[in-house]
Amino acid sequence: MPIATVNPATGETLRTFRPFGPDEVEERVAAAHRAFRRYRTTGFPERTALLLRAADLLEEDLPEIARTVTTEMGKPLTAARAEAAKCVKAMRWYAGNAEALLADDGPSDADVRDSGAATARVHYRPLGPVLAVMPWNFPLWQVVRFAAPALMAGNTGLLKHASNVPQTALYLEDLFRRAGYPDGVFQTLLTGSDAVEGVLRDPRVAAATLTGSEAAGRSVAAVAGDEVKKTVLELGGSDPYLVLPSADLERAAATAVTARTQNNGQSCIAAKRFIVHADVHDEFVDRFTAGMAALRVGDPMDEATDVGPLASERGRADLEELVDDAVGHGAGVRCGGRRPEGLDRGWYYEPTVLTGVTPAMRVHHEETFGPVASVYRAGNLDEALDIANDSPFGLSSNVWTRDDAEVERCVRDLEAGGVYVNGMTASHPALPFGGVKRSGYGRELSGHGIKEFCNATTVWRA
Ligand code: NDP
Repeated sequence: MPIATVNPATGETLRTFRPFGPDEVEERVAAAHRAFRRYRTTGFPERTALLLRAADLLEEDLPEIARTVTTEMGKPLTAARAEAAKCVKAMRWYAGNAEALLADDGPSDADVRDSGAATARVHYRPLGPVLAVMPWNFPLWQVVRFAAPALMAGNTGLLKHASNVPQTALYLEDLFRRAGYPDGVFQTLLTGSDAVEGVLRDPRVAAATLTGSEAAGRSVAAVAGDEVKKTVLELGGSDPYLVLPSADLERAAATAVTARTQNNGQSCIAAKRFIVHADVHDEFVDRFTAGMAALRVGDPMDEATDVGPLASERGRADLEELVDDAVGHGAGVRCGGRRPEGLDRGWYYEPTVLTGVTPAMRVHHEETFGPVASVYRAGNLDEALDIANDSPFGLSSNVWTRDDAEVERCVRDLEAGGVYVNGMTASHPALPFGGVKRSGYGRELSGHGIKEFCNATTVWRA
């Protein structure tokens, strides 16, 4: 893939970039390693001040960087601004909380007396340079949710961003530099994915985190496994959205529209499979379809736009194939199912509701990365849970009900990294984020996230 900014709203190539050669990559890996030796010894006051400064700068830059994000990957400008604001919030949250999250802990002295210890504690020490392979869908947020905790813990970061968001990638390096981080603490590697293996095998690189497709995750995890290096993987999702008879249908349907179409439908934690109890199926589908059909598809720079283009021509082609396959296997198309008229230049696709989805269809097993909803009819909660769990993915899940017993069943039985009740999944700095099954492993955000790239060191004293 060329490293380039190609505007998804027009298909026009705006800027191309020369990928770094081996010497430039080597220079940066060496700098990350060198920087780690000193940066790891800094205290929390210094790290906190740096991250707060980066947050302030990002806040100042917000209108401009939001335009860059929209230009590079096509999300509505309002969503790009919200993404940048969320990054500011997460930076401030980690700046304010990292020291407490990483405070020494451990068993009581009495618990370890039989080991001969007078006392034993666990210290959380940084690992070293961490390689972050990141996707284009939230090109600021995905990076910041890695970088804020990793840098607060005393690691250094090497960002290999997606090839279609190079200006955002370079902006992030510049942001941390302007905030005063020492040379080498946070750098962008402007390379294609072919350079990832070499960097990951470099003995100076301690660990890796990847957000993206299952294929990319598998490839990075295989190399990291071979090198015995820690990884965190946040891969795809096909989150279920259960609507049960006692649900507030008006809110459930309105929220479903946002949950499916946020970020032009290109979010790993978007609700993708809507599993609706037969008693409320028809009413829910009517309301949901009305909401989806009313969305404004168009120029993402226009403040009134709800859904912009998909990020790439390939992404739209993949989505079209999935819809065609579902229709070929008998799915109904309640709205959408085609490219919008009059928007011929960009990679637009109409918000789409598919009904009567079955396991025979690819949309049942694969991730629909665009504004396409799959709706199922379930006879009862058992059946709804079976459909929900019959997926290779297990990122998050949503359930709408006023019945506490049903909530308990869902919390116990849904195979997912999150269960959101009467609302939609959204990440938050204080809450762990990640999945099970082929959605990956490890957690980002919260205390769980910051400890992923720490060495939990047992300190035993006689
Ligand atoms: P990719 O997984 O290909 O891209 C994500 C990142 O991984 C990019 O930086 C990419 O680099 C890099 N990468 C790709 N292949 C490899 C590899 N073999 N080794 C190391 N790094 C690699 O996502 P796509 O953009 O191709 O999207 C494809 C599908 O992935 C989507 O339709 C969606 O289903 C899923 N996806 C999920 C995301 C999520 O948030 N969980 C985010 C993005 C995609 P480069 O850009 O240079 O190829």
